[in-house]
Amino acid sequence: MRLLIAEDDPMLGDGLRRALQRAGYTVDLAVTGEEAMAATRAQDYALILLDLGLPNISGMEALKALRGRRDPTPVIIVTARDRPEQKVEGLDAGADDYVVKPFDLDELLARIRAQIRRGEKRTSDALSAHGVGVDLAARTVTLEAEPVAVTAKEFKVLAALMRRMGQFVSKEELEGALYDDTAEIESNTIEVAIYGLRRKLGSGLIVTARGLGYTIPKDT
Ligand code: CA
Repeated sequence: MRLLIAEDDPMLGDGLRRALQRAGYTVDLAVTGEEAMAATRAQDYALILLDLGLPNISGMEALKALRGRRDPTPVIIVTARDRPEQKVEGLDAGADDYVVKPFDLDELLARIRAQIRRGEKRTSDALSAHGVGVDLAARTVTLEAEPVAVTAKEFKVLAALMRRMGQFVSKEELEGALYDDTAEIESNTIEVAIYGLRRKLGSGLIVTARGLGYTIPKDT
């Protein structure tokens, strides 16, 4: 899971990076607002830790730009600015949480986990790519906004691939996604579901690679 730290204080930035890496995260560090903006355009982060006092583009401007382009990545502001009106401004600008320096590391880690959980929930209800939309709560599929009827197995296979877009998912893993509703899986169940999905949603949506499995390429 990849996080972005936007922090210009070298001691704090480096300390945070190492602490988060120890906690198992992959971490990018941006030391200016401009770097932070470029990083969020190039990468999909699970969460951003954002200092407000950053050189050239302030953290607040970066946050407003991020939300302006409807990027839903969870943002925790980490700042020395502790006045209530500053917190209000940050939260109103689209931050999900606000932590005042100096902070307790364990508490920050807990807040990061909480925001990532919420972020996953927000994005996990509706997934879309290549004109195909999957609503996990309503269990519906659309192609170019038109409803498409799929079988229960096709839906589960599609949802599993959408959730891990850009990664190969093995046939065994896809079978695992079906286990809860079928006691026995026939050997060609996945192939049949993939065939059905390709027929209904376009042959280019799902890519097969021998030995790796199936993938829906990232939408660029
Ligand atoms: Ca700063």
